[in-house]
Amino acid sequence: MIWERLAVLTANEGQCFYCFDESQTMDHVIPFSDGGADELKNLMPICHKCNQAKGDKNPAVWHVSLDLCIRWSGKGSVSDGAMLNNMSLRELYLLTHVEILEELDALEEVQAEILDERRLEWFERKFSLYGYPSAKFGVLRARAQFADRIQEGKGKNYPTFLEEWGHAASWSRSGTQSSES
Ligand SMILES: [Zn+2]
Repeated sequence: MIWERLAVLTANEGQCFYCFDESQTMDHVIPFSDGGADELKNLMPICHKCNQAKGDKNPAVWHVSLDLCIRWSGKGSVSDGAMLNNMSLRELYLLTHVEILEELDALEEVQAEILDERRLEWFERKFSLYGYPSAKFGVLRARAQFADRIQEGKGKNYPTFLEEWGHAASWSRSGTQSSES
């Protein structure tokens, strides 16, 4: 549904989880091919470039593979040159391990934002009528069209139906706004 995709794409300030460019698509944290579910808790906002680079890897494996091939200066066998600023491959792996833990903490924060019930309820209420994305009205077009509304909703902390309309309803019924006092 469009509303679910909007909720994912606009999380993390609308930025790619990995590089902070504008998010353009949704990444399966645990890849589909590894049995990752097509559910909100397994989806992250991400850009096309990172999505392509990450491929079918989970975040930890991707991070290790990037780090060990980019940072490690040893071109030959491990024994003849596993050094990076005097760092051994083993030390580099440990450093990577710490970074991955930090990355997973950050990932959990974005997951919590995506799964926030109040926020989800707001997106569903505002955008469920747009149904499923189509060739004519895809999620990026929806996102551009609704950017201001989403920004405004966020600014008001995604008000519930009652918070938005409760006062208006009690006004029209009783002609007074002091019905709770
Ligand atoms: Zn990216």
